Amino acid sequence: MARTKKAGTEQIAVIGLGRFGAALSLELVQTGHEVLGIDIDEQLVQSFSTQITQTVQADSTSPEALTEIDINNFERVVVAIGSNVEASILTASLLLELGIKEIWAKADTDAHGKILKQLGVHHVVFPESDMGRRVAHQVGGDSLDYVEIDKGFVMAKTGAAKSLIGKSLTELALRSKYGVLVVATSHGDAVYTAATPETVISDGDWMIIAGPKNAVDHFCELR
Ligand code: ATP
Repeated sequence: MARTKKAGTEQIAVIGLGRFGAALSLELVQTGHEVLGIDIDEQLVQSFSTQITQTVQADSTSPEALTEIDINNFERVVVAIGSNVEASILTASLLLELGIKEIWAKADTDAHGKILKQLGVHHVVFPESDMGRRVAHQVGGDSLDYVEIDKGFVMAKTGAAKSLIGKSLTELALRSKYGVLVVATSHGDAVYTAATPETVISDGDWMIIAGPKNAVDHFCELR
C-alpha cells in the first residue's frame, strides 16, 4: 500500500477514482474540502496525487486495508465504484460494519441501488440515469438546465416566455397561476440576481424556477 502524501485531517474519503469518483473528489477539493482518494489501481492513484489532498492505493474490499488507512476516522465516505457491483457492495457493507456515519454510494443500475439501500447505505446516487434525465430536458429544448432536487421537486433554467415580458413577478402571480416559484433571473450573459416581487421580466431574460415537476414542466413549455 503506497501513500503519496502524509495523513492530515481529511473530512471526506472517496473510494474509486474512476470518472465519477475523480470528478467528485476534484470538485470537493475545489470547494475547500480535504479529500482522501482511494483506488486499487496504483497508476490512477499516482495520477491524482497532486490534485487530491491525499491519495492511497488500497483494495476497499479488504477489512485490513480499510483499517490500515484509518477509514473509521472519516464521518463521510463515498463509494464511487459502479460497474464492479461485488466490490461496491462488499465495500459498503464493511463501511457499515465500521459504523461510518454517512455513506454515499454510486449505483449503476436499479438492482444495484436497491441492494445498497437494503444494506443500509445512507445515500444512494444514480449519476448516469440522473444525468440522462437532466440532459433529456436540455435536448428536448424546453429548459436549458434541469435538476431534480428531491423526488418530484425540480429546479430549471428556462427563457422568459413572450407572455411574461414587461410584467413584474407580483403582476404575473406565477405561483398561484402555474405553481412555480421564480428563484432568480438574469439578462443575457449577466449574473443572476435573486428574484423579488418587483423583478420585471424583460425580453431575453433567463429564469431559474423551482416547483413540483409537473408544474415546472408545464411552465417551461410556455416558451
Ligand atoms: P466510472 O464510471 O466512475 O469511470 P466505472 O463504472 O467505469 O466508473 P468502476 O468499476 O465503477 O468503473 O470503478 C471505479 C473505480 O473504482 C476504478 O478506478 C477502480 O479501479 C476502482 N475500484 C474498483 N474496485 C475497487 C476496490 N476493490 N478497491 C478500490 N478501488 C476499486
